[in-house]
Amino acid sequence: MTRGKLFVISGPSGAGKGTICKRLLEKDSNIRFSVSMTTRLPREGEVEGVDYYFVDKTEFEQLLINGGLLEHNRYLDNFYGTPRKQVLGWIEEGYNVILEIDYHGAFQVRDAYPDCVLIFIMPPSIEELEARITGRGTETEEVRERRLKEALGEIAQAEKYDYTVVNDNLDAAVDRVSQIMKEEQNVISINQ
Ligand code: 5GP
Repeated sequence: MTRGKLFVISGPSGAGKGTICKRLLEKDSNIRFSVSMTTRLPREGEVEGVDYYFVDKTEFEQLLINGGLLEHNRYLDNFYGTPRKQVLGWIEEGYNVILEIDYHGAFQVRDAYPDCVLIFIMPPSIEELEARITGRGTETEEVRERRLKEALGEIAQAEKYDYTVVNDNLDAAVDRVSQIMKEEQNVISINQ
């Protein structure tokens, strides 16, 4: 059986990468989404095992020590990580797997697993990004300020990605990422 391919999708908070990932999953049943683990508290409406596995710091550290995370990072005051076993299992089963993680994690994944594709989702403009982060309204002013600062730092990493997709139109951005995934899948099937 042909192995699946690993795709890492990053972009600043507010670039719309979460929505793009949801749409990709709806479109293609051969895609699996890796649910990350975090020590952050759930936001309103977030569901355990769907948005994240919400754990405490001790549980997170335990998994990390046991080699259970493919990558991890601290963002603001919380830890985030990708459970290794499920991702690698899905790839073996032939699924294309999407990780929606930040650039620190993306580069760790590329080091550990070079046969992956890094896609950066860019907001159409800094003004638009600011409006999207502020408009979320679920966090305090201080957290929004920090998210904006992090977002600008994140954008500076885009050039190290294999692809950059500007999300100025959701349908077009989803189509572009789909197209990249299809093309990259062909690369692996030729090489195998
Ligand atoms: P949020 O708190 O807004 O859900 O996520 C904050 C940041 O952490 C986002 O940039 C998101 O992409 C990133 N993130 C989410 N899950 C992971 C993960 O498993 N690993 C890493 N390195 N970053 C993650």
